[in-house]
Amino acid sequence: MASTTLHPDSLAVHAGRDDLANLGVHALPLDLSSTNPLPDVDLGGLSYEVLATGGHPFDGGSNVYARLWNPTVARFEQALAQLEHAEEAVAFSSGMAAVTAALLALAHESGRRHVVAVRPLYGGTDHLLASGLLSVETTYCTADAVATAIRDDTALVVLESPANPTLELVDIRAVVAAGDVPVLVDNTFATPVLQHPLDLGATLSLHSATKYLGGHGDVVGGVIACDARTAAALRRVRAITGGILHPLGAYLLHRGLATLPVRVRAQQEAARTVADWLTRRDDVARVYFPGLAECDPRGLIGTQQSGPGAMISLELVGGYGAAAGLTSSVRLFTHAVSLGSVDSLIQHPAALTHRPVQSEAKPSAGLVRLSIGLEDPADLIADLDQALATRAERLSSPVSAAN
Ligand SMILES: *Cc1c(COP(=O)(O)O)cnc(C)c1O
Repeated sequence: MASTTLHPDSLAVHAGRDDLANLGVHALPLDLSSTNPLPDVDLGGLSYEVLATGGHPFDGGSNVYARLWNPTVARFEQALAQLEHAEEAVAFSSGMAAVTAALLALAHESGRRHVVAVRPLYGGTDHLLASGLLSVETTYCTADAVATAIRDDTALVVLESPANPTLELVDIRAVVAAGDVPVLVDNTFATPVLQHPLDLGATLSLHSATKYLGGHGDVVGGVIACDARTAAALRRVRAITGGILHPLGAYLLHRGLATLPVRVRAQQEAARTVADWLTRRDDVARVYFPGLAECDPRGLIGTQQSGPGAMISLELVGGYGAAAGLTSSVRLFTHAVSLGSVDSLIQHPAALTHRPVQSEAKPSAGLVRLSIGLEDPADLIADLDQALATRAERLSSPVSAAN
């Protein structure tokens, strides 16, 4: 294993690549086998048994079948585990497949069916928990009410920090201390570059790998970093239910990890510049960015999370009309859901990512979310400036007034 004494930037480049020299290759090998040769019936059967119950392959055994084990996926998992300060990691076909597996595994292991969910959450997670689809019962609450929401039959506490879409920071240590229940932190927005939930006492750190880990908008995947016992339970669920990550996705995600620290830091610096500019505008009622003092009342930036990240939300003075107008007037930003890519994205949470969320937890109609990419911040600001001006012009033009 690449030494964990390495600087995190060095680890991001080298983690999960220990076996490459012995294989005589330099780039990550991409193993696309759906099935694998078996040594004999006994060892093949034993391999199947071990892998299907969440174990690791053993010397002289076989990987059997790609739903059970794939070496390209395993290398990515090992790398991510090291970056997250975890014993192991388990990768899935999407962030939502990872959330699903975590709920199924934790509920099954504990024999409990109640979940406490700290709002706000990503719309898909909120919707899954509310849907009743997995037969879990959910109590939604704020971070300071977790202790009272926990019951004898609570299997898991779920939180996100920074939380989607208003980028609220949740004090992870305080939530962990609120009860003797495993805590799952969705670490998608912070990434292991900025935050290590397991060091703060969480049991699971989850990513939609689709976002910053991949970073180029061309992979859908999910991953959970955790202890070895939880990882085995997750692999068992994955083997049974089939939410596996494709090896090509794992290859791209692993490749993306090497540049994750530089990407996140550069995107974060650009986001600071854009957020500062937004705070000075009269047509923007409120800017949500963890780097602004008013957005971090508990002082968690610098203690829990090393920097504010590269996501910004803004509340426009003109409400829904202004928000919709801005999203359709940008030229350099792409109007699209998702985040964490090298290019900047803009989207309207209430209409899109948070559409399935119950009305009491729905984001406001004037809220727009920005994911800042690697473009020069001056170009991003110029684009937002022209988009806000276009919107204002349309409003004041006699043609649109007549309509
Ligand atoms: C996108 C996202 C998810 C869901 O991940 P998918 O890869 O889209 O399934 C979960 N949590 C957060 C914070 C996200 O942004």
